[in-house]
Amino acid sequence: MNEAEATAAGGGAISTCWSCRGPVAGDSIFCATCGAVQPPADVDHFARLDLTPTFDVDADSLDRGYFDAQRRLHPDRFATRTPRERAFSQLQAVSLNEAYETLKDPLRRADYLVTLKGGEVAPEGCSLVNEQELLHEVMERREELAEADSVAAVEALEAAASDDFGRCIAALSTAFACDDLPAAARLTTRMRYLGKYIEECRSRRTRLGRHT
Ligand SMILES: [Zn+2]
Repeated sequence: MNEAEATAAGGGAISTCWSCRGPVAGDSIFCATCGAVQPPADVDHFARLDLTPTFDVDADSLDRGYFDAQRRLHPDRFATRTPRERAFSQLQAVSLNEAYETLKDPLRRADYLVTLKGGEVAPEGCSLVNEQELLHEVMERREELAEADSVAAVEALEAAASDDFGRCIAALSTAFACDDLPAAARLTTRMRYLGKYIEECRSRRTRLGRHT
């Protein structure tokens, strides 16, 4: 969207094919001249999947880019190739999986994007207060959960927490659009707490379900 993102997305670096010495665009998996698979380029997860570095990743484009590359890297295609090509194709597949797993999950994607955009997130004066508010909220929720004595009651708490989790995802989209990295980092902290709480709800629901 902005200039920095466009530059980051463009890659632009040219390397040399190990096989034919022809030019290879920075994030290409294969040499355009001889077709040889290249070692994984040192690019970020977004560039590896040909995506603009943004939080609002299009799920279909992400899946398409991943499954298309995965197909081209299938071990069957390299069965008769040299050990070097087999090794490079495996390294490419590992890098590709890592990029996909990171970008598919909203929380992991947000964490990654905070690091990618800002590196170090400067602590704000109010971050400690926010942490305390968050801890207080989590303690209250845990008390409610401990007191919930029916599956329906736990389900209601779990649904409320899931709604909050969804609202965090929407808020993250806004925070990244405004390049407000401290806000994004606070939201990911909250999502981590909520995610753990939702897991606790699930296990309590299972326990209660067994006794009724
Ligand atoms: Zn080549």
